[in-house]
Formats: sequence, C-alpha cells, structure tokens
Amino acid sequence: MTQKILEIQNLTVSFDGFKALNQLNFSMEFGELRVIIGPNGAGKTTFLDVITGKVQPTVGRVLFKGRNLQKMPEHKIARLGIGRKFQTPRVYQNLTVKENLDLAANQNKNVFSSLFSRPRASEQRQVSSLLETIGLMAKADLPAALLSHGEKQRLEIGMLVAQSPDLLLVDEPVAGLTDEETENVGKLLLALAESHSIIVIEHDMEFVRQIARKVTVLHQGSVLCEGSMDDVQNNPRVIEVYLGT
Ligand code: ADP
Repeated sequence: MTQKILEIQNLTVSFDGFKALNQLNFSMEFGELRVIIGPNGAGKTTFLDVITGKVQPTVGRVLFKGRNLQKMPEHKIARLGIGRKFQTPRVYQNLTVKENLDLAANQNKNVFSSLFSRPRASEQRQVSSLLETIGLMAKADLPAALLSHGEKQRLEIGMLVAQSPDLLLVDEPVAGLTDEETENVGKLLLALAESHSIIVIEHDMEFVRQIARKVTVLHQGSVLCEGSMDDVQNNPRVIEVYLGT
C-alpha cells in the first residue's frame, strides 16, 4: 500500500460532549488537490484545526506522511510541512509585496536580519519565481496595503508557499472576491497543485467546479460522500443536506 500524505482514522472531536467531528475517516494521496464542502457547522474548520494541532482529537488519529501528529504542538506540525492560510489575508500592510515574501521565506530568522541582511541568490530566485507564480511581479515594490483584496489573497498564498510546506490548507480563499479575482485565485491554486498537496475549504460552488477534481462533503462531523463535482452534486443525500428537503 502506498503511503498517503494524510490519513485520518476514526476521528472524533468533542466539545463539552458535543461531537464537532464524529468518527471521521479521510485520506489523501501525495499531489492531490481536494476541496471540502459542507453546510455551516459541518465541522470543516474543526477538521483543519485538528490537522494543524490547534485542537486535539478526542478519539482517533491523524497521520501526516505516515507520522502520528498526536499531542504535537502547532509549531512542530508546521515545521513538519503543513501550512495553513486563514480566510482573511494576514499580510504586512506596510511592507512591500516582495518584502512580505522575503519575510515568509525566512520565517525562522528574525524580522531585521531577514529584511536587512543580503539574501542568498537561491532565496532571491525562489522569491522571483513566486512573484511570477502569484502574478504580482509588476507590484513587487508596492506596499501590500495598496493591493486589492484578491491580490492580498494571492500574496498570502505565496507567503505560505515560500515556507515550502508539503501540504497547504486553504480556508475560503475567494470569499468576497470579484469573479475575475476568483478566477485568478483558482488558476493559482491549480498551478500550485502541480507541485503541492492542497486542501481547500470553500462555499462558492462555481469556484469549486473550477478547481476541484475530487470533492469531500462533510455533514454533522462525518464524511457524507466523496467524488467528482458531478457525482457530489447529483448525490441525493447531498441535495437533501443543502436544500433541507
Ligand atoms: P464549519 O467550519 O463547517 O462551519 P465548525 O468546525 O466551525 O464547522 O463547527 C462544527 C460544530 O462544532 C459547530 O456546531 C460549532 O458550533 C461547534 N464548535 C466548533 N468549535 C467549538 C468550540 N470551541 N466549542 C464548542 N463548540 C464548537
């Protein structure tokens, strides 16, 4: 059996007896781009919280590249290669686009040494290539504060990638974006999926259709079904959950 990048076995997370996740099983191959959908309260955020170590399983386990993450602190899990992007962009507004990326690429150094020491040529190449990938080369020297919301989302995704994670967790990257910005974020995630494993949580079904090869539907803390977007959209149980019929 080939090793999975992520394997979640029989995962239950209880908050004061309420099961936010309930005997959930999930696995993902290296290099997959997986989209997770589900109505409000389905357990999507808790699912990401457990993978990153913010919340501990009550029962069950999470294996990342075969390694059990149980009781591991968040920073150690991040160092193992899991990066998370939250819904709202968290960029440094007063730094330029390039400085934001430099800083992310040098996470383990302090702010002053990474901003004022001369970067190595390999780091410079990595940042240039990232600027190209996120489509912000022309804005490299502008303060991040001047970017549109969509550009900030792309910058933050770039900052995540600069930390070289194997698995990217991306939470609602297109909430509040225009159609054009949504499409750009979709293209970026598809480009990154060439070399990364990615989990995206998303509500915008048009966007899910743009990027998804395989979709997992969560409902009441468990996996309701998995498959292509067409399979999922035509599944009577999914229709029932979304339309409440
Ligand atoms: P989603 O992201 O799919 O909307 P969540 O993972 O945020 O779902 O929440 C799943 C369920 O768990 C919800 O009913 C929510 O109220 C509950 N929940 C989440 N976090 C906590 C917590 N820290 N304490 C108590 N209940 C929680």
